[in-house]
Amino acid sequence: MSKPTTIRAVVPHVLMADLAEPFAYSQAWYRRRGAMLVEVTTAEGITGWGEAFGPPELTAPVVAWLAPLVVGQDAMAREAIWQALYNRLRDHGQRGLVVEAISAIDIALWDIAGQATGLPVHRLLGGPLRTEVEAYATGFYRRERDDHADYLAEEAAQRLSEGYRWLKLKTGWGLAEDIALTRGFRAAIGPGVGLMIDCNHAYDAGTAIAYGCAVADLDIAWFEEPVPPEDLDGYLEVKARQPIPVAGGEAAFARWGFRDMIVRRCADILQPDVAACGGISELKKIADMASAFGVRVNPHVWGTGVAMAASLHLLAVLPDNPPGLFPRPPLLEFDRSPHPVRDEATTMPAVSAEGRVRVPEGPGLGVAVDRAALRRFAA
Ligand SMILES: [Mg+2]
Repeated sequence: MSKPTTIRAVVPHVLMADLAEPFAYSQAWYRRRGAMLVEVTTAEGITGWGEAFGPPELTAPVVAWLAPLVVGQDAMAREAIWQALYNRLRDHGQRGLVVEAISAIDIALWDIAGQATGLPVHRLLGGPLRTEVEAYATGFYRRERDDHADYLAEEAAQRLSEGYRWLKLKTGWGLAEDIALTRGFRAAIGPGVGLMIDCNHAYDAGTAIAYGCAVADLDIAWFEEPVPPEDLDGYLEVKARQPIPVAGGEAAFARWGFRDMIVRRCADILQPDVAACGGISELKKIADMASAFGVRVNPHVWGTGVAMAASLHLLAVLPDNPPGLFPRPPLLEFDRSPHPVRDEATTMPAVSAEGRVRVPEGPGLGVAVDRAALRRFAA
């Protein structure tokens, strides 16, 4: 029998835009940048939005393939739907594109549940533990110029003037260059600013250890993805043989993908991405597992306002780890690299002069999607 929350349609949107200035991380250049948003509508006309991390033209067909399994189901049965989708493709898609597609559907179902009940997602999750979080600025990518230290310093000055107190530098350009770049960047921003480094698994364990040791005096909060995500023994080596806390997990998927990282204590800080690891439902389970093992969680975020809002609702309920009168709450990753689709198609939260972001308070995710922009960027 049809309920008001019976799912009527699941529609993937592939969105793409050219970048005014290309940028690179240690694995590839970006000349275009896109997003894959999923629109789920119910019999009563509620629209929920989800998003998948990963190449939009590859995740969208997976969503389209899964859609018939979702249409006709009750959107409130998020857990049942998640399990049905994962189990249907378990033999073929335990990580990567399939789990990213499931993530997008799951996020949209949480958006619907919030709108159907008139509650923000973080209240459905039992929160809030906190109503605002401190943000760190991701950016500082490589450009097609030679004056890397100069434009990175300019970008840092801009972010600091906007209120951010934590900055994450992209590295992975070669050991000697990384050491010089990191030392120059710390000198440019001064001693009072939080600094993280992220080489996007550009190194093997030995090189990562040499890099970490060479910049360990620069007060670096974490060293992100030092080695490839499959190399858990490499993570353990890097963690043991250089002093900077190790972070990783944006390329790990679902509870089973994080289980070994957690049990073996491969990282000090886990970074599941809500649009990749299995959605809001799965990230909460991963965070609770991490809590039981004393591992901190700082979600990875690199998408539009949909992924940002989903992450903020989770950040509202992630446990302080460890708890105490003066805990160290999780930080919000605020990607400031160019993303025309994000900027024009979705609403983004504001950063305060103190570098803080409020958790959305409207029903559901609390994010608005501009349909004219969806048409403009449709690929
Ligand atoms: Mg990263």
